Amino acid sequence: MNYKSTRNSTNQVTASQAILQGLATDGGLYVPTEIPQIDIDWEEASKYSYQEMALVILKAFLSDFSEEELKECIQSAYDDKFDDPVIAPIVKVGDNYILELFHGPTIAFKDMALSILPYLMKTAAKINNNQKESIILTATSGDTGKAAMAGFADVEGTKIIVFYPKGGVSSIQEQQMVTQKGKNTHVISIRGNFDDAQSKVKELFNDQDLKHILNENGAQFSSANSINIGRLVPQIVYYYYAYAQLVAKGSIETGQAINFDIPTGNFGNILAAYYAKKSGLAINKLICASNDNKVLFDFFHTGTYDRNRSFELTTSPSMDILVSSNFERLVYHAIGEDSQVLSNLMDDLSSKGSYRVEEKYHSQFSDFLAAYANNLETEEEINTVFEESKYIMDPHTAVASKAWRKLNSQEELQGPVVILSTASPYKFPEAVLSALDLDPRNMSDKQQLEALHEISQVPYPPAVEGLLDAEILHKTTIEVEDMRSSVLDIVTHS
Ligand SMILES: *Cc1c(COP(=O)(O)O)cnc(C)c1O
Repeated sequence: MNYKSTRNSTNQVTASQAILQGLATDGGLYVPTEIPQIDIDWEEASKYSYQEMALVILKAFLSDFSEEELKECIQSAYDDKFDDPVIAPIVKVGDNYILELFHGPTIAFKDMALSILPYLMKTAAKINNNQKESIILTATSGDTGKAAMAGFADVEGTKIIVFYPKGGVSSIQEQQMVTQKGKNTHVISIRGNFDDAQSKVKELFNDQDLKHILNENGAQFSSANSINIGRLVPQIVYYYYAYAQLVAKGSIETGQAINFDIPTGNFGNILAAYYAKKSGLAINKLICASNDNKVLFDFFHTGTYDRNRSFELTTSPSMDILVSSNFERLVYHAIGEDSQVLSNLMDDLSSKGSYRVEEKYHSQFSDFLAAYANNLETEEEINTVFEESKYIMDPHTAVASKAWRKLNSQEELQGPVVILSTASPYKFPEAVLSALDLDPRNMSDKQQLEALHEISQVPYPPAVEGLLDAEILHKTTIEVEDMRSSVLDIVTHS
């Protein structure tokens, strides 16, 4: 099994090459040439550790890595960096299950993949005998940046450059990024939104002059964004692992189909769920939950993807995205993997800001249900769930929870529902406190964390200990047009 580009099906590479490159050279995204079928004995698998499950999945999807190499990557990634030995525990809250993906070093779900990506990249370089320095170019809506730097800080042979939207991330997210240590880390805020940062980063990836200069400096770009299959594949693991935990608890029968409800921005997390289903996991529906930037909700209801609308800053900033990168992969599969048709749609997206998928393909999206929650509904959901179950959700998780509430009466949604919790409430204390009617406006960041601690009784995660007193190491803010020269400067001077 190899990987091929969505924009040119004849452009094929191995898994390790796809991880090194990030984006395909033709501007497309790599997808599996065929989705491996994973046959699991659940009796056995219900006793697996997270690491054991990871090996089964990674082996199937990263076929040119040896078992030894994968084991080493897995052991290095999923260790006591996580504050729970289960790594991704599942808990019952009300009628639903919650899969907690925030027990890693930066308390957001990005850690699930970004804790292993540096090891996969290092191994991929070895497999391909590639000695070039990797310049990890990353646009972040708040969580990827920190999680990627936590993984790549001081990793030899890499430099990491993170661009985030000034004013577009939570105060804790910003503090996490600007205090990042490591000689090879560079954090720069831009005057613009996440889409501006992401589209410029994609442009830089395809900038031939820049590529040439990098080459002369013995370097190459790679990506820590979810356009990299090295991000997507490790995310498939926790869907299987969630299922195994439900079997182990006796909550489901082996073979019973379950639903996953996923708060969505760049469509990476939910695309991994789609691959889990296509590789054989018993999944009924995938709920695509959006905030006010509901391009995907509109697509699933109309067949038209339209980014021509105002960009909303919400209380779930990691989902403030209008150009959802990974959706290109789903559309490619849905239209029968025709790279010419796909390229035309993507051309429409860049020239007109919208595209329409033909009617005859609409049934190919039937694995998905979509719903959205605005800021007020998100707040109410945090409040309702706390009142009912004393469980505190972060705003992203609450968007998904509210989406479930809106869809709950639909007949199609049969079977248990697992909501993916993508961040700790400690990452968004202001939004959470205000949802719980504890007016945070006159509180300092520190007081907000203390108030949240008092009401939740959840221990402080290591990620916030000492965070507010840490030295600020990154202070630069630039215009979007200056991103290229910043990159050039970093590549050639430091
Ligand atoms: C990144 C992120 C999301 C969205 O995930 P995608 O893979 O971009 O869809 C949701 N919640 C949180 C907390 C995130 O950091």
